[in-house]
Amino acid sequence: MNFKQAKTKSKRIRRERTLLFLYAIAVTAALFISIYNNNSVKASINYNETFLEEMPDELALQEQTLSIEESLKFKEEETLPSPIAEEETTTIENVQKAEAMISPQNIGTSEEIVIVQKGDTFIDILTKLGLEYSEATKIYQAYKKVYDARKIKEGQEIQISSVVDGHYENEISITKISTEPTSGTRYILEKNTDGVFEARVEQDELINELKHISGSTSGILSNAMKNAGVPQNVIGNFISIFNFRVDFRRDIRAGDKFELLFERKIAPNGTVVKTGDIVYAALILSNKKIELYRYKDSSGTVDYYDEQGSALKKFLDRKPLEFKNARISSKFGKRFHPILKQYRLHSGVDYAAPMNTKVYASGDGMITAAKWVGGYGNYITIRHNSEYSTGYGHLKSYASGIRPGVRVRQGQVIGYVGSTGRSTGPHLHFEIIRNGKKIDPLKVKAATGENLSGAKLKEFKTLVAQIKENLARETKLAEQANLPSSTPADD
Ligand SMILES: [Zn+2]
Repeated sequence: MNFKQAKTKSKRIRRERTLLFLYAIAVTAALFISIYNNNSVKASINYNETFLEEMPDELALQEQTLSIEESLKFKEEETLPSPIAEEETTTIENVQKAEAMISPQNIGTSEEIVIVQKGDTFIDILTKLGLEYSEATKIYQAYKKVYDARKIKEGQEIQISSVVDGHYENEISITKISTEPTSGTRYILEKNTDGVFEARVEQDELINELKHISGSTSGILSNAMKNAGVPQNVIGNFISIFNFRVDFRRDIRAGDKFELLFERKIAPNGTVVKTGDIVYAALILSNKKIELYRYKDSSGTVDYYDEQGSALKKFLDRKPLEFKNARISSKFGKRFHPILKQYRLHSGVDYAAPMNTKVYASGDGMITAAKWVGGYGNYITIRHNSEYSTGYGHLKSYASGIRPGVRVRQGQVIGYVGSTGRSTGPHLHFEIIRNGKKIDPLKVKAATGENLSGAKLKEFKTLVAQIKENLARETKLAEQANLPSSTPADD
């Protein structure tokens, strides 16, 4: 290199450095302005929420409005001459070509919104932008501290800021990545002044509110609720709250009504970010009205109670026998079978009881079988709802009128203790079947049936009064708006 060349080169480097410096000042200023304007943004995140995440509808609706190529917009710093002004790049290839043409003076920023296409991985997106695979992996790892970018979904927007430095390797250098998979929560990866990536989460302040929805059904409750605007996860929770009290397939009739109040969180832009617990749930059926209020005691136990604080009756009685002090002679689980002389799964719990002891229906339901079944001897099964059934084995005989298709009430006598089938003495073999699978009756966590009392009851009643006030206000508002408080919602 001769002297002249060296001099030109050093001049050029100096110019580059000046430009870089100016650029850094501009970026810092922009950053300050954005922080100043975003004082509603809280840079912390609360992970202890029990809220269920909900995909904002906009995301689902966003039909590939922009492809990566289209969304690539190369913004030249205005003060700098732009050799590619005419090109207004439309494809990655063009961008890369354009970058190759950039003279060292042209250090510019690029702000892109990449919309994830079907099958795209985060690494794909970065490498398509011109990053080396190893660099893309490094970025993925750094981002993972707050956000696992493997979770990106088709249609999700990713904002990518980069500095283009065409002088060295025709490569862009990423300065910032930001994505907001659910409205109000942004995951950000940004290069600090030392050139090291730092990850953070920005969370908008969310507004808590109680949403009131009511309606009536023409048969299928979940459809009616969906049509009335109840989010899917809330419908699921509503059904499970009542699952222990109502057989949805049999008890719901056209004209039955539902009403609920549930928690939700709203972002400053009005988007519903999360939906939470149902605090009040009511079903107004043709023959009964069930209103349930959520209560969480100081130990964290959550259950739903009626206005008086009683958990209604137990959904299933775990010891459906005349003698409540009947002894458990064998528990659920693997055991050595005394007759078969081998280890087998004991599919229920055995209660030793004298011959002819009355056996009760564990819960309301319909008899689905009352017949001889191999080792069970005389065996009865009752279907309680779409999820739960119970079974009763070794019966001496059935109560009169007990046959498939007959409806029974909890506590109704269905048969008598015996020792039929593979049995060594009189006992009731009792089973709880959940979704077709036999489970340990002593471990079923279905409605404990415990009522509230004392301080808990007092606290609960205050809560009920608040909820009632809220419901009255909602009904009044609906009336003032000249709308029926009950939205007709057909299935
Ligand atoms: Zn048994």
